[in-house]
Amino acid sequence: MKKLILSVDTGIDDALAIAYAAGQQEMELIGLTVSYGMSTVENTYRNTRKFAELIGLTVPVYMGSSKPMVRPGRDYRTTGSRIHGRDGMANMFGEHVPEDIEGAVPEEAIDYIIESVHRYGKDLVLVTTGPMTDLAKVIKKDPKVMEKIGAIYSMVGALAAPGNVNPYMEANAGMDPEAVKFVLESDPPLTVIGLDVTRKTLMSLEDLKRWQEIGTERSGFLSGCVEFYLDAYRVMHPYLKGCALHDPLAVGAALHPEWIHTVPMHLTCVTEGEADGRTCEDLSRCDDPVYHSAGALFVDSKAFEKHFFDTVERVLRG
Ligand code: CA
Repeated sequence: MKKLILSVDTGIDDALAIAYAAGQQEMELIGLTVSYGMSTVENTYRNTRKFAELIGLTVPVYMGSSKPMVRPGRDYRTTGSRIHGRDGMANMFGEHVPEDIEGAVPEEAIDYIIESVHRYGKDLVLVTTGPMTDLAKVIKKDPKVMEKIGAIYSMVGALAAPGNVNPYMEANAGMDPEAVKFVLESDPPLTVIGLDVTRKTLMSLEDLKRWQEIGTERSGFLSGCVEFYLDAYRVMHPYLKGCALHDPLAVGAALHPEWIHTVPMHLTCVTEGEADGRTCEDLSRCDDPVYHSAGALFVDSKAFEKHFFDTVERVLRG
């Protein structure tokens, strides 16, 4: 059975991805790594551990980077997220306390991923649903891991669709464009699961009502998070009939690659000017006939959504 590492920045849709990864039976989830992103790394690490505990998931959780590679990090004291809450968790957990991060070693996620690749090789699948800072550091520290790893599926970027930060920039790519550029230009066996496909997989108010009716502590907590998330989507993306299942789809694509249609591409990320943060084809490599990366441009939303809701509802029932 393939081994799965999920790299998150929890985040409401990361929590959905964790619940999905915990309940699926296709791969063995062996660990979670957490970087800064939807909040400070201290908060996202705490969110991940507390949420995993709530749903009875006992895999180890490793702390990753606290800021982007080159740019200054966001000031989380002044930029509370409308979509995820200032704590990343719909403001349900608040600011972390020292005990929340007891035992965590800064950036231990980098070595954990490297060691896992050397241990499991092609049997290891990595799914990333946050900034690419940790993965860039993995490749910088040990470039060989990209030849050894089985596959990477990353919720990042927007290839043919517009961004969600601005017309060019998707949020994960925008958090550390230099890291995205470095990773994509390293030619990893990576499939970009970007806004092209993730905005076509939705959770609606009807889906939320079903979760609320389950009536467990788990379902109450996650329903509260999704309610917050849906409220933000109604205001910010009123053209969608629900909230996008961005991060869960990266897990779904790893489990069932047949649900997505991909195009082989040499990819990069723009790091300056108006199109800063845009993921696109790297034309400097257009004469290279060997492609390692690909972009997903179509998804069988119905197949994915059925599997996602069946799986997560099983987890929420406990
Ligand atoms: Ca995320």
